[in-house]
Amino acid sequence: MISIHLKKGYDLNLAGKPSRELKTLPSPDQVALLPDQLPFVKPRLKVKTGDRVQVGSVLFEDKANPGVKFVSPGGGTVVEIRYGPRRVIEAVVIRLDEDEAFTEFPPIPENRIPDVARDRLVAALVDGGVWPLIRELPFRNIPRPDANMPSAVFVSLSSEEPFQPAPGVYLRDRADLLRYGAGVLRRLAKRVIVSIADRDADLLAGTGLEDAPDCFPVRYRGHYPAGDPGVLLYRTKRTAKENRSWFIHGQDLLLLAGLLRDGVFPTERTVVVGGAASPVHGHIRTRIGAPLVHLSGGAGPNGDTRYIQGGLLSGYAAPREGHLGLYETALTLIPEGKERELFGFIRPGYHKPSYSRAFLSVFRTAAPFAGNCNTHGEERACINCGYCARVCPVDILPRYTMKALRADEIEEALTLGLLDCVECGLCTYVCPSKVELLQTLKHAKARYHREMNR
Ligand code: SF4
Ligand code: SF4
Repeated sequence: MISIHLKKGYDLNLAGKPSRELKTLPSPDQVALLPDQLPFVKPRLKVKTGDRVQVGSVLFEDKANPGVKFVSPGGGTVVEIRYGPRRVIEAVVIRLDEDEAFTEFPPIPENRIPDVARDRLVAALVDGGVWPLIRELPFRNIPRPDANMPSAVFVSLSSEEPFQPAPGVYLRDRADLLRYGAGVLRRLAKRVIVSIADRDADLLAGTGLEDAPDCFPVRYRGHYPAGDPGVLLYRTKRTAKENRSWFIHGQDLLLLAGLLRDGVFPTERTVVVGGAASPVHGHIRTRIGAPLVHLSGGAGPNGDTRYIQGGLLSGYAAPREGHLGLYETALTLIPEGKERELFGFIRPGYHKPSYSRAFLSVFRTAAPFAGNCNTHGEERACINCGYCARVCPVDILPRYTMKALRADEIEEALTLGLLDCVECGLCTYVCPSKVELLQTLKHAKARYHREMNR
């Protein structure tokens, strides 16, 4: 097994850590898919309000990536198609039947996978609606079904981002699905690289992955975002051809395997709910697209709380009445921190989490911080402190890249490594001048991707 130690990055020590206890919630009344949160997808609706759908019925297709389908994670009635500004489709909401109907797909026994032609396997994944779970670096878009075989597909089982599901929980009793999924990926890419944190490495014992041909387990240790597939690619790639590798998260691989093995679209998700303002702190087994209030314990906290789904640093704020996105496996509730702090500028800051050593909190090494969303000021001029470069896991110089982009010098930004950015958000977090580095780099990457695919 290959072992990697990543020295850059940063770990946040925040209060509200989830327990490893797994609780299964009763099925919610409704579920939803959120087209607006799917990167680069231009949805073409295949249903309208009032239509009856089964688990696995097509809800919409991607106009930008012909053939890619998004299927219903629930069986029942389409009760709402929610539009946002400029008629962007924000959500397709399905009220669930008590007795849900399932669309059936032809199952493939594990021992038959090596004999199935690659294009038939791809077609089965596309028809079953699990193809979008695979994504392509460096833009993190959904690959085209007719794309050439990539040099590698990364499977990331662990995550260093705060409050993400532990593989020891979501893989419990599912080692057979993991092995099945890896078998499918071996047909799709030249190499399968399964990454796992050092602390979780024992979980691979007995799965057969360590001895499987073309399968390379990688153990890593280090700070967030050490387990990110983009970081591992940056650390292991030998040629530029590998830049377009694919990746899939561990839980998504289980869904993909479940569809092919059992012949029905799997609807279960293991989600972590945590954060200082959350009444719930633990692993929850629920449905894809479940309402956020269903996960956060019904009534939940008051309106002074921000709901962040997907990840504390890499995720996005969601409305309280929102639903779990297709890729999301974490819901973090953090206080907004709107209260004004009297004489805040002269307080020693013992309770303020900060990367810089300007506050007394630097002496607080063990006790977790409550933290909140208050940035204590607006964007100011860059002071060239270099913190952003110090934490960047892929050795970009974020401040120079940001300055190049603001001057519309895209070529220079590309030379500085724009496409290596793994969108971890650390540079924005550590910046004392509150410069929105992540947003600038992420938008520039997205614009470049769209121009390349025009
Ligand atoms: S430039 Fe990208 S990879 Fe580097 S710290 Fe910022 S978001 Fe992370
Ligand atoms: S962390 Fe912020 S202020 Fe410091 S160099 Fe980077 S962009 Fe400039």
